[in-house]
Amino acid sequence: MQFDVLTLFPEIFDICKHSILEKAQEKDLININVVNIRDFSENKHKKVDDTPYGGGAGMIMMPDVVYKAYESVKTDKAKVIYMSPQGKLLNQKKVEELSKQEHLILLCGHYEGIDQRVLDKIVDEEISIGDYVLTGGELPAMVLIDTVSRYVDGVLTKNSIEEESFSQGLLEYPQYTRPEIFENMAVPEILLSGHHENIEKWRKEKSLEITYKKRPDLLKNYKLSKQEKEILEKLKMKCQKNEGTAQEMKEGGKF
Ligand code: SAM
Repeated sequence: MQFDVLTLFPEIFDICKHSILEKAQEKDLININVVNIRDFSENKHKKVDDTPYGGGAGMIMMPDVVYKAYESVKTDKAKVIYMSPQGKLLNQKKVEELSKQEHLILLCGHYEGIDQRVLDKIVDEEISIGDYVLTGGELPAMVLIDTVSRYVDGVLTKNSIEEESFSQGLLEYPQYTRPEIFENMAVPEILLSGHHENIEKWRKEKSLEITYKKRPDLLKNYKLSKQEKEILEKLKMKCQKNEGTAQEMKEGGKF
């Protein structure tokens, strides 16, 4: 998969030269090409921004420079994404959808943003990484590249993707590794039993429990099996009982 990033700060993308993204590039599973928008300025001072028409704070990136940078990498198959706080929130579904694309061009704004005319001309979709404003689109583009790359064939093993939080609609169960005892806390015995069926059942229960406790909203869109419904019912009853006991203890002044 080809990522072309249009930015005024190419150095920020040095972070792509490590860990899983580095290996994915070595294996030619992904290619990350970072384009410095400033290289396309014909101004003798390499100017790329100017004050906003109508007045107001900050500087706006000029449309012609951004357009030339885009033209240097565009292809027929490219999808152009503008990283923007006004865009659609990035989530797992969108990540998996984007991982099917052959070529993504990620446009990073900076300062007060980019002249609207070039956005209207080249952008297919605006994507935000959260309801807050960052100084530039570089970190959002990095987030997108990192998460989308994980879903490109061959970058990770199928198992590690399938069992992760969000991929099946639930959060992942807790994980443990050596040592068996840490600060007097033991690894749950079932994980040492070697009984795969029981381990799977335990993991499913934990996954439901964690989702119920941390992100109950996710359960609204998750189709529960009969067995999962039963587990959840028991879990709800257990939680209500615990809450009742906690309340009684509170009223009794025990804490
Ligand atoms: N004036 C713009 C507004 O109010 O919508 C914000 C500009 S912001 C300071 C500069 C750039 O950072 C944007 O052009 C965009 O590329 C990027 N950016 C900021 N917050 C972002 C977010 N939550 N998600 C994606 N990109 C973001």
